[in-house]
Amino acid sequence: MSPLDGKNETADGDTRWGPRGTAAATFAARLSFEHVSHSYAGVEAVRDVSLVLAPGEITCLLGPSGCGKTTLLRLAAGVERPQQGRILLDGKEIAGPNSFVPPERRNVGLMFQDFALFPHITILDNVLFGLRHLERSMALREARAALRRVGMAQYEKSYPHVLSGGEQQRVALARAIVPRPAVMLMDEPFSGLDQRLRESVREETFAVLRETRASCLLVTHDPVEAMLMADQIAVMRDGRLIQCDTPAEVYRHPEDIETARFFCDFNELKLVSESGRIQTPFGDLNAPDDGYSGPIIILIRPQGILPVEGKTGTEATVIDVRYLGDVTLLTLGVHGYDDPVKAQVASATVPEKGQSMRIELDPQHVLMFQS
Ligand code: ATP
Repeated sequence: MSPLDGKNETADGDTRWGPRGTAAATFAARLSFEHVSHSYAGVEAVRDVSLVLAPGEITCLLGPSGCGKTTLLRLAAGVERPQQGRILLDGKEIAGPNSFVPPERRNVGLMFQDFALFPHITILDNVLFGLRHLERSMALREARAALRRVGMAQYEKSYPHVLSGGEQQRVALARAIVPRPAVMLMDEPFSGLDQRLRESVREETFAVLRETRASCLLVTHDPVEAMLMADQIAVMRDGRLIQCDTPAEVYRHPEDIETARFFCDFNELKLVSESGRIQTPFGDLNAPDDGYSGPIIILIRPQGILPVEGKTGTEATVIDVRYLGDVTLLTLGVHGYDDPVKAQVASATVPEKGQSMRIELDPQHVLMFQS
């Protein structure tokens, strides 16, 4: 259970979100990209991407700056038209060689990092903007319900500039969900907020998305955010889709070394496998491919280096100790290995600088890639 459950209170203090379960629901749709490519003046931003968002699920597009995440979102929104491939909503082509449904007829909601509220109209009018097709009294009812859900009803007569960043983002969320879009497209929606606020806004936005049942495509460059929010993570690099899977699968079995590095600051050991056996400072390991001989890179997560009692394991000396709260980061000199090794241990068992200790590997935190 989350610390915020049942309280409707945010970590940022006095303002409260509305009761959970009160956001208006929609009919979620399946959004599919089929071999989509897109270039800007010769720069290929998205290359042959095929991706399916299951109805009601959250897909996070994750990757470094410039890898094509925003372009894919803009293609889904209809702001750009793909030069190759097709985009389908519940099996119906909305962009492709034969058709192009304009953004306003796609039934998608948009939310961006910079909130993008209209500055010259009130909060209520901002939310009403997406409901111009409804009769006035019904539109007012829906807009006020959405504002209540995000805890901003008391500000309906205010203008955006009087609100904090977190509050503006809540209004942006209300505005995006109020037309009951089948698909929500969100581009780094929390990155303009400071960390504590980001956590609370993210958690409550997640709850709102689940209530609306909209399918969601969310762009982020933060792997932790992707793991917290996503049903599936789509990892992109250089315009390509590298891997698409559940957060656990992408974390445990990354497609390649670049994807692995994106999720963790590993200890990296460049070693050699001889007929499937690798000698490491921590003892012999089996290569993933039986009988492989050649260079291999071993990635060890800092939490995969475990202190052990007695005479087992490998001898190490503590070079540096950084207390991080519940865990402590150690820099270790390891017998038989030149480079310092990072280990993350429980703070309850922290050794002192200069002390000797024995360590061993936790295999679940070890990854190997042929180099
Ligand atoms: P970021 O995380 O920095 O927003 P991104 O992964 O969202 O990056 P895109 O914004 O989709 O990446 O950009 C992909 C590539 O396309 C980049 O090389 C970028 O410079 C280029 N690009 C994006 N928009 C345009 C544009 N309007 N005109 C020309 N090139 C563009």
